Amino acid sequence: MKTVLITGGAGFIGSHLCEFLLGKGFKVIAMDNLATGDIKNIGHLRGSRNFSYIHHDVSKHIAINEKLDFVLHFASPASPVDYQKIPIQTLKAGSLGTHNTLGLALAKKAKYVLASTSEVYGDPLVNPQPESYWGNVNPIGVRGCYDESKRFAEALTMAYHRIHKLDTKIVRIFNTFGPRMRKDDGRVVPNFITQALKNKPITVYGDGKQTRSFCYVSDLIDGIYKLMLSNLNEPVNLGNPDEHTILEFAEIVKERTKSKSKIAFKQLPVDDPHVRCPDISKARKELKWQPKVEIEEGLSKTIEWFKKN
Ligand code: UDP
Repeated sequence: MKTVLITGGAGFIGSHLCEFLLGKGFKVIAMDNLATGDIKNIGHLRGSRNFSYIHHDVSKHIAINEKLDFVLHFASPASPVDYQKIPIQTLKAGSLGTHNTLGLALAKKAKYVLASTSEVYGDPLVNPQPESYWGNVNPIGVRGCYDESKRFAEALTMAYHRIHKLDTKIVRIFNTFGPRMRKDDGRVVPNFITQALKNKPITVYGDGKQTRSFCYVSDLIDGIYKLMLSNLNEPVNLGNPDEHTILEFAEIVKERTKSKSKIAFKQLPVDDPHVRCPDISKARKELKWQPKVEIEEGLSKTIEWFKKN
């Protein structure tokens, strides 16, 4: 039986990874400090014999007694509202947290996966973004705490790969949605769904012409699993290339929730990227991966979950 440590295991993506890998027969250790994660996300897993939870901050030294086959570093605030509230913790999760988890993987001779982000491309001047694009990031802007911590994390991961020959993988995760997103995390999907369900105004920032592309969480997890088992070491984009303006997205949510909400235009946050869309040629070719869930289907499942919770 293979053992995997998942940092950020009580978070949105982390908890889906825990569940998926348990289902695949892994022994799963979830680690979280619950800064933005929620213990309820893994409540249903805690009875499982092959699951354990450690409450710990990844920016502090990590001691694990048992053998590890994989270390997946997914701990970090990831919503712009969250990481701008706790920028120092965010920088520490990406820097010290990445150093600690890489050191642990090296000591355990484990394979390593870093959760990186499309934010490494900043406000991109190239659309869609291939992995070869170096990005357009404001290092001292309000989003810099996240963007730069992930860029540093990628650099450190590649250094461990090159110097220590550690088998590392880097996944650049584009906007992902699904059940267990926090309804108050400030991101566009939970905001629009909760506003629409209450028939309250849907808050579109700026003119709503900025674009995002939304990947359903089960597709992302499938891609991460394929990457984990691959022999790739360079970064790979995972996301859904179906690009929408935010205004279009507001209309789709309205329609899916049969909401009477009006659109309310609000000020565009500082450094909000104008476009974002993954070029997934590499994932298609190297991992034989592509998203399968259409935005409408994913939204229906997510809306159902928000209604129940
Ligand atoms: N956004 C919006 N209304 C909201 C929340 C977000 O118009 O209530 C916009 C935001 O300005 C951005 C996009 O939706 O252009 C996606 O924002 P999110 O916070 O989900 O994450 P990002 O993709 O910027 O990291």
